[in-house]
Amino acid sequence: MTDNKDIAKEDQFSAGPPPGKLDPSGGSAVREATSVGVILLAEPRGFCAGVDRAIEIVERALSKFGAPIYVRHEIVHNTYVVNDLKQKGAIFIEELDDVPPGATLVFSAHGVSRAIQLEAQRRGFQIFDATCPLVTKVHVEVAKLHKEGFEFIMIGHKGHPEVEGTMGQLDSGIHLVEDVADVARISPLQTERLAVVTQTTLSVDDAAEITAAVKARFPQVRSPKLQDICYATQNRQDAVKVLSPQVDILIVVGSPTSSNSNRLRELAAKLGTEAYMVDDASELQESWFAGKSRVGLTAGASAPEILVKQVIDRIKALGAVSVRKMAGIEETIKFPLPKGLKLDAQGQTLEVSDSQLHQLS
Ligand code: SF4
Repeated sequence: MTDNKDIAKEDQFSAGPPPGKLDPSGGSAVREATSVGVILLAEPRGFCAGVDRAIEIVERALSKFGAPIYVRHEIVHNTYVVNDLKQKGAIFIEELDDVPPGATLVFSAHGVSRAIQLEAQRRGFQIFDATCPLVTKVHVEVAKLHKEGFEFIMIGHKGHPEVEGTMGQLDSGIHLVEDVADVARISPLQTERLAVVTQTTLSVDDAAEITAAVKARFPQVRSPKLQDICYATQNRQDAVKVLSPQVDILIVVGSPTSSNSNRLRELAAKLGTEAYMVDDASELQESWFAGKSRVGLTAGASAPEILVKQVIDRIKALGAVSVRKMAGIEETIKFPLPKGLKLDAQGQTLEVSDSQLHQLS
């Protein structure tokens, strides 16, 4: 275990009860006498700007137009978020056939293919696009370079909606590689104009390795000036790299479908730290904490802080007496909402010009 110099001194939460006593926070069970002493919180963790915006779009659409609001695919990959929005009146669908005429439809943060976009428009739905602007940026780049005659090598996970959306910006000429071995298998029609694009939520290290393999096979390939992996994915992985060597076990709050959450757990495991991903506190197992004194805790970009707090309470019930927050990057990025969904203090809808909106900082 390394020196704890990266961990802020002050506790961010009140300490739990001493080991061996009843949990006064409502827990009915007598706490196990585990060796857990401290919870170290990764910084940053949890919601990113794209997730914040996507959820706000659905909530504001519900507020303005009333239920139901149809959402294509889970708005973000988190069980709690999706269930909460369902209760508020959102209906999640995969097929446009399941959306009635005249309905309001929101595209998820992962983005959609051109075919889905055009078909939704043809059917006359009122559409709000919650695609993360950093995913849209990749779509725009693909369309632009395609016009210049480029073919693409996309690094990503087959079947992930973001990958389907990005690959679906073109009818052909975009080749998916999931790992280094795939690089040898693809057959572009030409090699003079090839460009790499990536899913935004990949492992930074894996993507670099695969990009290197692509460059080795196609030395003239064009890679993005700034990689497509987003700031939130990068920052959360960087925080896990700092935190992992300082803890005996790392817990990642995130749903099984969440790409960036899975990458955080994998990263910690690669660094030699026992790591588990949980959708919520109920999935924590006491046996994981036997003989562990320092517990690291982080959350994927789609996991709300309320779930982190519930996990903290549960680990405190197992004996943790202090919670400390890592020093880390403070994220101030905020993405603009679509026009027509900004509300004033009285709940009236305001049209907002782009210049009035927060910009990427
Ligand atoms: S993880 Fe990155 S790409 Fe995905 S919604 Fe968040 S900021 Fe956007």
